[in-house]
Amino acid sequence: MPQKSDIWLLWAILFGAIAGLACGWWFGPTMQPIGWVGDLFLDILKMLILPLIVAAVISGIGGLGDIRQLGRLGGITVGYYFCTTALAVLVGLILVNIIQPGVGVDTFSADSPTDVIDAGSATGISDLVRSLVTPNLVDAAANLQLLPIIVFCLLFGAALTTLGERGRTVVDFFNGLNEAMMKLVMWVMYLAPVGVFALIANTLGQAGGGAAFWQELQAVGWYTATVIIGLFVHFLLLLAVAGWLGGRGLDYLRAMGRALIMAFGTGSSSATLPITMSAAEAGGADPKTLRFVLPLGATVNMDGTALYEAVAVMFIAQAYGIDLGFTAQTLIFITATLAAIGAAGIPQAGLVTMVIVLSAVNLPLEGIGLLLAVDWFLDRCRTTVNVWGDSVGAVVVGRLSGQTTR
Ligand code: ASP
Repeated sequence: MPQKSDIWLLWAILFGAIAGLACGWWFGPTMQPIGWVGDLFLDILKMLILPLIVAAVISGIGGLGDIRQLGRLGGITVGYYFCTTALAVLVGLILVNIIQPGVGVDTFSADSPTDVIDAGSATGISDLVRSLVTPNLVDAAANLQLLPIIVFCLLFGAALTTLGERGRTVVDFFNGLNEAMMKLVMWVMYLAPVGVFALIANTLGQAGGGAAFWQELQAVGWYTATVIIGLFVHFLLLLAVAGWLGGRGLDYLRAMGRALIMAFGTGSSSATLPITMSAAEAGGADPKTLRFVLPLGATVNMDGTALYEAVAVMFIAQAYGIDLGFTAQTLIFITATLAAIGAAGIPQAGLVTMVIVLSAVNLPLEGIGLLLAVDWFLDRCRTTVNVWGDSVGAVVVGRLSGQTTR
């Protein structure tokens, strides 16, 4: 049962988000002076990420007590991530073929976003594999490169499970650290209504307010609609997966509400991670499982991003009048899945890794310029689905690996 204070907090955060939308919409750029409040809130969240991940992953894996359990848990987690990401791409491809949002779109007005293209072109598939490790853990920590840190903590936790009593002493230390970090997250959560308000009002204000945003939206209206319908369908499919495989339904969705609103407010799965973990624990996901599944999910499992990349790339092909057959779309299916895995959990990272997908099917990279104006908004929508995908993963993996959830 969610506590009364949790329900109040959810309403307060929802109110903050709606008020932020309304103020950003009406007052436009005049909301920018409060931008620092949102940035301050984001910085506080980011300050928690590193110690939280280290403590959570080591205590989660160390708590399994047996290295074979880790293999099983890891296998189920990777299987879940892969299946749901592939499902998301499929939903995107089906919808974009039915709606055909790019047909008749004027491509001449597209500015060539050279910075995005340069950043994306520097990333290859081999870089995705290499990003699993780092030659310098301190450097990775300083730059919030979470994946190699998670891999290290995973191995470290696994090693502890083989050391018997002495290993358990170390795991106990990380259990305590994890509890302290969760307490800090709870305190920070009380700032969330104001933080979310400032973040949303400022971003909409920067986009020029409601009237300017509405105009931009209409220019690529069908594209935006296709992505949003796809995200919504996938959101519901995930809810069904949660019910079917995880034994949890609307109650869990309600428990995760604050994390989902935070994801929309920040546009970053990583910055939302502390709140995702605390909400999933309050929602009854198995603590040992979620400590492993959620940090990993925030960095590699991005259903919303995968769906968006597939739709966006097909949209660009349609806008340029390039017909992509079954083989090319299969290539999009594979590369969009990989590009989503490679995208960092930070705002608009998916826009950059989309270059991998466009290059794979030889589409003009400057087509990305068509998507820029509305990307800040779609980024927030897809981040919400990314976080929901991770949260469902926590209950599904917990159930399938035999850990209990209430
Ligand atoms: N902003 C997304 C996230 O953090 C990634 C992306 O699609 O750009 O999950």
